[in-house]
Amino acid sequence: MDGPLRTCVVCRLTAQARDLIRITWPPAAACPVVGLSKVHVVGGRGAWVHPELSCVSGLGTERLSRALRRTVTVSQVEDVVAVLSQDRCALISDK
Ligand SMILES: [Zn+2]
Repeated sequence: MDGPLRTCVVCRLTAQARDLIRITWPPAAACPVVGLSKVHVVGGRGAWVHPELSCVSGLGTERLSRALRRTVTVSQVEDVVAVLSQDRCALISDK
């Protein structure tokens, strides 16, 4: 099954979009939000990352700010990582 390919912002490997987690910053939102991979309706630029600790823990302000084209603060990165860590199992099984 072929689907859209996306590049993980941390390890730079290309993967099926459904196997990655999308992080977006909708124009109306106050902070970046984590979207389930199957949800593509959230607007704004997206950063994609593998649902694996090795990639999630590699997220940083520079990588996210570059991908989202907005200034992401350290605490916002921590919030995103916390959500990804907590929901890791749910995200992986949600296919
Ligand atoms: Zn990765």
